[in-house]
Amino acid sequence: MTYMSHTEDLAEVLVTEDQLATRIAELGEQITKHYLDQGIEEIVVVAVTNGAIVFVADLMRKLNLHTRLDCIRVSSYRDETQPVTEPEIIDNIRLNVEGEHVLLIDDILDTGSTLQKLVGVLRRMRPATLKTCVLLDKEGRRTKTYRANYCGFTIPEAFVVGYGLDFAERYRNLPCIGVLRPELQNPPEWC
Ligand code: 5GP
Ligand code: MG
Ligand code: MG
Repeated sequence: MTYMSHTEDLAEVLVTEDQLATRIAELGEQITKHYLDQGIEEIVVVAVTNGAIVFVADLMRKLNLHTRLDCIRVSSYRDETQPVTEPEIIDNIRLNVEGEHVLLIDDILDTGSTLQKLVGVLRRMRPATLKTCVLLDKEGRRTKTYRANYCGFTIPEAFVVGYGLDFAERYRNLPCIGVLRPELQNPPEWC
């Protein structure tokens, strides 16, 4: 069977599969070093689903630490390329993270609302430490003064898909990250 992940629907590739692999290995080393330098050998990874699952799957295998995993599900987008609501937690984590070292991982930092909200929620659970990591950062769009502790790539202001990021739940399985062809972003009414 021919391998098909619909990369032909992209107008432009911003981050290739090779670039992702290289950078994620670097991030894994950097994050591991940060914790081990402080004598911390176990962390709790909190993945923001669905977007971060592909990134987390690859990154956590580059962490040379004991890692427990939980997920938090947030909604702020309907099937469009612009946020329509304030971020809302649909499904919270199950682990008790009080006194634990938490690493919150999301796919992309855009306006900053999602991460800021989640940091607030997790802080109230009183972890020993809380760090944030995003694969992508659209610095130009930030409405809140917010930075992640770890970031894979800074990208320009464009709606991107692939490697976990979706458009209407599609394209998460693309092996690279790119910009969807404009005519595919706004399907005509009759579609
Ligand atoms: P923020 O709250 O920082 O504005 O947005 C973060 C969330 O919006 C991300 O977790 C992601 O789900 C979604 N998002 C922001 N920009 C993009 C984008 O370019 N493409 C996709 N697929 N999702 C995005
Ligand atoms: Mg998200
Ligand atoms: Mg989405």
